[in-house]
Amino acid sequence: MNAQDSIIIDVKNLRKVYTIGTERVIALAGIDMQIRRGEICCLFGPSGSGKSTLLNMLAGLEKPTTGEISIGGARIDKMNETQLADFRRNHFGFVFQSYNLLPALTALENVEMPMIFRGVDKDIRKKQAVKMLQYVGLKNRIKHKPTQMSGGQQQRVGIARAFVAHPPVIFADEPTGNLDTHTTYEVMNMMSAMVKKRGSTMIIVTHDDEIAAYGDHIIKIRDGKILEESWPKQQVAAAE
Ligand code: ADP
Repeated sequence: MNAQDSIIIDVKNLRKVYTIGTERVIALAGIDMQIRRGEICCLFGPSGSGKSTLLNMLAGLEKPTTGEISIGGARIDKMNETQLADFRRNHFGFVFQSYNLLPALTALENVEMPMIFRGVDKDIRKKQAVKMLQYVGLKNRIKHKPTQMSGGQQQRVGIARAFVAHPPVIFADEPTGNLDTHTTYEVMNMMSAMVKKRGSTMIIVTHDDEIAAYGDHIIKIRDGKILEESWPKQQVAAAE
């Protein structure tokens, strides 16, 4: 495999300008970046720097003002809403800061959701969801609803839901923002182990340098631009 083959996300001159009344907010001011398959990539920067806007563009949740975004060779900036919804369903998993579980559904039913959208058979769906909940240590909570679980448990359901359908790319926006330090490590260790086991690619938005330490590739964002990029684990390996 040559270097080009292993690039899963390729972004060229990405700009996002919001217009509110007569005011223009330049949220992304020209981003060029590439993310490799199997990488944990952290979009790292202070509040208001443009991280979530960038993640939303990469995940096909918002349209760029200008620029190109290719994911696995597909130009998602050129897709219409239906194509995007389809692409997201088949390629992406999401972990949210506020978990975003459906409150009326049990842990099991929440984890089954991505497979329902993909038309997976009921028995297979249930088996896979139970297996994932077991993996994240919630075997005894499968019938619990979100309000009957702690924040850490809800986020573990969120992780099970994000990974259950084996998406090649996982997006996580401040995934531990509502969790205590101990639970933060638990959740981060679980997500990074799953990414490495599956060979998936994960993009994490964070302003916390302890979360960024999990990254293979760190992209520092300031004022809608890339301030600096680093691959700390490669540098450590090279030094050894
Ligand atoms: P971060 O995730 O780093 O905190 P954001 O991507 O949320 O930053 O925001 C970047 C900039 O874009 C901020 O100045 C923010 O106020 C602005 N912004 C984000 N979303 C919108 C929106 N929907 N409408 C107008 N301005 C927005």
